[in-house]
Amino acid sequence: MCGGKIKSIHARQVLDCNGRPVVEAEIVTQGGAAGCAGASTGTSVGSGEAFVLRDGDPGFYSGLSVCKAVRNVNEIIAPALIGMDVEKQEEIDDKLIELDGTKRKTRLGGNAIFAVSAAAAYAAADLKNMQLYESMTKKRPRYLFAPASNVINGGRCGGIKQDFQEFMIVPKGITSVKEAIRMVVEIFMYLPELIAKETGREVDLGSYSGHAAPDEDPFAVMDLLERAVGKLGYKKNICYALDCAATGYYDVQEKAYRYRGKLRGREEMIAVLKKLSMSYPFAFMEDVLEENDFEGFAAARKQLNTVVVGDDLLCTDKERIQKAVKIGAADGVIFKPNQAGTVTEALEAARYAKEQGMLVIPSGRAGGVLDDPEKEIGFAYEFHMFKTGAPREGSRTADINFMLRTEEKTGIPMLDIEKLPIMAHLGEAGY
Ligand code: PEP
Ligand code: MG
Repeated sequence: MCGGKIKSIHARQVLDCNGRPVVEAEIVTQGGAAGCAGASTGTSVGSGEAFVLRDGDPGFYSGLSVCKAVRNVNEIIAPALIGMDVEKQEEIDDKLIELDGTKRKTRLGGNAIFAVSAAAAYAAADLKNMQLYESMTKKRPRYLFAPASNVINGGRCGGIKQDFQEFMIVPKGITSVKEAIRMVVEIFMYLPELIAKETGREVDLGSYSGHAAPDEDPFAVMDLLERAVGKLGYKKNICYALDCAATGYYDVQEKAYRYRGKLRGREEMIAVLKKLSMSYPFAFMEDVLEENDFEGFAAARKQLNTVVVGDDLLCTDKERIQKAVKIGAADGVIFKPNQAGTVTEALEAARYAKEQGMLVIPSGRAGGVLDDPEKEIGFAYEFHMFKTGAPREGSRTADINFMLRTEEKTGIPMLDIEKLPIMAHLGEAGY
């Protein structure tokens, strides 16, 4: 049988869901199976992530075009991979790693490599006439992850600067995706009305497609969220999550955080987050400190009344996760396969984290594409929550619709995160 042997690989430049150029690769096998995938990219990017190769010509797509990466697929990767078997993902990914030869995939571009790696996974699924999650593991998943949905965004908007990047809502105490998504969407739709009433301001579109934060004080934002949730009667079934994306407001020269207009040290930032975590039920807090402060994360982990998760800190990188485990820097990891650069490396990192008892939370990227594979991988390997973004942009609604469709087709229930031992703090009274 040679049906799975690669006959052709072709890449092109298309657009991500935010209109930025992105590499898309298409693989066709000798038996006629096909797989196509784009390499999504982030806006807040960890320095340990696989390198995104952009052309950098300011006069052409504002420097964001990916023609060199596309050429690297068509001229270097394609000839080397022809004849390889799409069902041997590890061999394909090893070959991609070898062709590049650098730790962060700076030669060919992590975006060139990842598009091919993901396209191979999709082609292997097509060969078996399966969906990607079915083709990745023979085990039927016992549950589908719960959504962590971004509703209020930080950034600068309308004269207000909120330093934290994402305020999320997370359904708990239920096992129905349909119900979870309904609650999320109703809260998201009600928030503009409540914010307008409370602040007298029209709500702007936030940088991550959520609502722009109406206040620079995170406690004020959380109060608004609590009020929205309470008004709709969902208090029992909603908790929260926060992505501080702290590297974004860290001043490397000053070795301090520019938070709410003042320079603050690590301890001061931990104290703010500790108070937040004691005041509201948080499922997790992500990137609470700058991306290389493993010791600081370990100190935060001891003090915060929530699960500390690493995104820019860990970059879906097994070595960084091992380091975090060794010093107790985090209890959870954001899973973004393109950060690692190949499907195999990302999966190895996430499975290792799960074996260590960590929460694994797949996430789309700010520059997402509809065929991002992390939702399928996350379902196949029973990861715990999914950062679905705000329920209104293409790649994010694609993720949410995957959840709705999968529940309906398979009858597999959603994970009730309240039942996870690591979430014991949510059951404690006093919020
Ligand atoms: C994040 O930081 O978790 C995120 C989704 O954003 P980006 O894709 O910009 O990394
Ligand atoms: Mg993040």
